[in-house]
Amino acid sequence: SPTILWFRQDLRLHDQPALVAAAGAGPVIPVYILDDESPGDWRMGAAQRWWLHHSLIALAKDLDDLGSRLILRRGHAVEILRALMDESGATEVHAIRHYEPWWRRAEQMLEDCLNLHDGNHLARPELVTTGSGRPFRIYSAFWKGLQEHLPPEYPLDPPKAVTAPAHWPTSEKLADWSLLPTKPDWSTGFDEDWIPGEATARERMAEFGEKAVAYDTARNMPSEEGSSRLSPHLHFGEISVRAVWHSLARHGDTETFRKELAWRDFTDGVVMALPDYADHNGRDAFDKMPWRTGAEAQADLTAWQQGRTGYPIVDAGMRQLWATGWMHNRVRMIAASFLIKHLLIDWREGERWFWDCLVDADYGNNAVNWQWVGGTGIDSNMFGRIMAPLSQSEKFDAGDYIRQWVPELKNVGDAAIHDPDEAGCRPKDYPAKIIGHREGRERALAAAKTMRG
Ligand code: FAD
Repeated sequence: SPTILWFRQDLRLHDQPALVAAAGAGPVIPVYILDDESPGDWRMGAAQRWWLHHSLIALAKDLDDLGSRLILRRGHAVEILRALMDESGATEVHAIRHYEPWWRRAEQMLEDCLNLHDGNHLARPELVTTGSGRPFRIYSAFWKGLQEHLPPEYPLDPPKAVTAPAHWPTSEKLADWSLLPTKPDWSTGFDEDWIPGEATARERMAEFGEKAVAYDTARNMPSEEGSSRLSPHLHFGEISVRAVWHSLARHGDTETFRKELAWRDFTDGVVMALPDYADHNGRDAFDKMPWRTGAEAQADLTAWQQGRTGYPIVDAGMRQLWATGWMHNRVRMIAASFLIKHLLIDWREGERWFWDCLVDADYGNNAVNWQWVGGTGIDSNMFGRIMAPLSQSEKFDAGDYIRQWVPELKNVGDAAIHDPDEAGCRPKDYPAKIIGHREGRERALAAAKTMRG
C-alpha cells in the first residue's frame, strides 16, 4: 500500500527526511492540506497565502519532475488525512515535526499512523533545555546549550524518483483556493521582490554566502541589503536551516549570522513550553498594564499601520511591510517599540498586523520577538528601555531607506531626513509627529508605574 507524505511548512525536496523515508517505503502520495480550522485565530494571514500559492506551484513542478504529483486538499488536516488513508489504503503518514500548538495537537491525534522526522530546526527543541529539562528563557544560555547539539552535515539529496501509487487520489485545484488577492491587488510589490520556491531559496542562500562575513555590521543598516532575506523561504521550509548553517560555514567567520539563525530554534523552544505565547503576556504583571484603547488609540493604531505617524523611520518600515510583505529587522524593532511604548498600544495589536502582512509571519518568531521588544516576555528585556526612533534612524543611517519608502520625503536631505518636523522642513503632505518622543516616553513609564501598583 502507498505511504502518505504530508507537507506543511517544509515545501522542499532537498534535506527532506520525510520524503526520503516515504520514498524508501514504496509508492508515495504527497499531499498539502490547506487547514484553516486547526489553527483557529492563527490561520494563515493574507501575505503568507500569497507566498503559499506560488510555493505550491513550485513544489508541484519539482515533484512532477520526479514522476510524482502534489495532491491538494482543504479542511481539518487530521480528518483529511484519515479520509485519504481510507481512500488509498495507506496505513502510514510521514511528516516533518512542527511546534505550532495546532500542529502538535494534530500530531498527537495521528499518533497511531504518523512517523515524524526532524528537519525544521538545527536541533530538536526538546534536546536544548536547561539542566532541569525546561526550555531556556534567555537566548544567550540557549545558544550555549545549542553547542552540544549542533546539526550533523545532512547530505540528504532528494530521491532520484518517487514511485507513484496505482491510483492517484483526486486533488483540488489551487486556483479554487483563492490564495491570491483580487481587489484591491496589493501584491504587485511582492511580485517584484520575491520568487517563492525551493530553487530561489537555494539561489538566495548561495548569493548571500559571500556577504555573510560582512553581516555583523551590514545587517543593522536598513539602507543596505545586508541580511539574507531568507526568512519566508525558511518559514515555509523551502530550504532547511541545517543546509543554510552548513553552507555558510564555508565562507569564514559567520558566527553572528549563525546566532540569528538559531533564534528560530529558540522561539520554537519557547512556544513548545508556552503554546499560548502569542496570546498571553510572558510576565503576568503586564495583564494589569493600562494599554490605551478607544477611538483615539484606534486612530493611532491605524496611523501606525498605514505608515503615517510622522516618524520617518517607523513610517518607512510600515510602508515597506505593506508593499513587499517584509520589513528590515532593525526597523521591525523600532516600529514595534514605537507602537507598544510611544503609543502605549497592546503588543498583540501589532503582532496581529504583522501576522497578516508578513510573508515570513511565523507563530514562534513573531510572538517571541514582539514580547521581547515589549519587555512583556519571559526573557530579560525591560519595558523601561525605550528606543528613541529618531536617534536610531540616524545611528543606522536610514536616510536612503526612508526616501525609498516615504515618497513625500524623497527630496529631504540627510540633515533633516530623520526628523523633518524638528528641522522645520516637513513637507505639507507628510504628517506631523503623532506624539512627541519625550511625551510618549513619559506616558509609557507612568503606565508601567501604575501597572506595578
Ligand atoms: P537574517 O538577518 O538574514 O537572518 C537569517 C534568518 O535567521 C532569518 O531568515 C530568520 O529565519 C532567522 N532570524 C533572524 N533574526 C531572527 C529573530 N530575531 N528571531 C527569529 N528568527 C530570526 N522573523 C520571522 O521569521 N517571522 C516573523 O513573524 C517575525 N516577526 C518579527 C516581529 C518583530 C517585532 C521583530 C522585531 C522581529 C521579527 N522577526 C520575525 C525576526 C526578524 O526580523 C526576521 O527574521 C528577519 O528580519 C528576516 O530577514 P532576513 O531573512 O534577511 O534575516
